[in-house]
Amino acid sequence: MTQTRTFLLMLAAMGTLAISTTRAQQQLPKPEETEVWQPVPPVVTPGKTPGAPPSDAIVLFDGTNESQWVSAQDHTPARWTVADGLLTVAKGTGNIETRRHFHNYQLHIEWRIPANITGTGQARGNSGIFLASTGPGDAGYELQVLDGYNNPTYVNGMVGSMYKQSIPMVNAARRPGEWQSYDVVWTAPVFRADGSLKTPAYVTVFLNGVLVENHFELKGETLYRGKPFYKAFDGAAIKLQAHGDKSAPISFRNIWVRDLP
Ligand code: MG
Repeated sequence: MTQTRTFLLMLAAMGTLAISTTRAQQQLPKPEETEVWQPVPPVVTPGKTPGAPPSDAIVLFDGTNESQWVSAQDHTPARWTVADGLLTVAKGTGNIETRRHFHNYQLHIEWRIPANITGTGQARGNSGIFLASTGPGDAGYELQVLDGYNNPTYVNGMVGSMYKQSIPMVNAARRPGEWQSYDVVWTAPVFRADGSLKTPAYVTVFLNGVLVENHFELKGETLYRGKPFYKAFDGAAIKLQAHGDKSAPISFRNIWVRDLP
């Protein structure tokens, strides 16, 4: 008799549980309520091989000519060396920069320190990618290019650094003679009408596919001397550095950019 009563009580409890579970399910938000269907992102066809430009990229160098580039000093056509599909620094001709100006973007660029590189520290395979070239007299915003393979230097000026502002999280450099790549997400600083800073610049950088800068906030232009500070600009070229050191010039290839909102 006691067993029968216990059994009946259990059945009653299970029934109550089933009813309350059903009620709870009825009160849950519907999955559809959090589904978003608009706007549909535009279709972009990825490059056929890793590092190849996707369909919406602006190609800045495809190995054939430097028509997208001008002298940073006087905006005459660039006079670096184009041969064998490579764009090689011609040191006497100065820095070059893109004809186009950009705001926020994704950049892919490949570069090679010559295998026979000489020199030490900052005088060993120095170049640079100025993510915003704000004028011939300005420092701009330099992502350092330098031999980083057994080449000690100050760490906020090594390869992967935003020059004299950031220390890369790791040293992912390849040895001289090997091709290396930067993949960059650049968020330009925004200025108010009176020239004051509204939002700072941010940069994310992958060196050879390895994250070295993660949404790093810049304090201003990357100065050689003194503390960084901002100077207002709106849209800027991307500039490549012809550094004055005596070591063999470095080469670039496969350069493309995607405008971002
Ligand atoms: Mg440099």
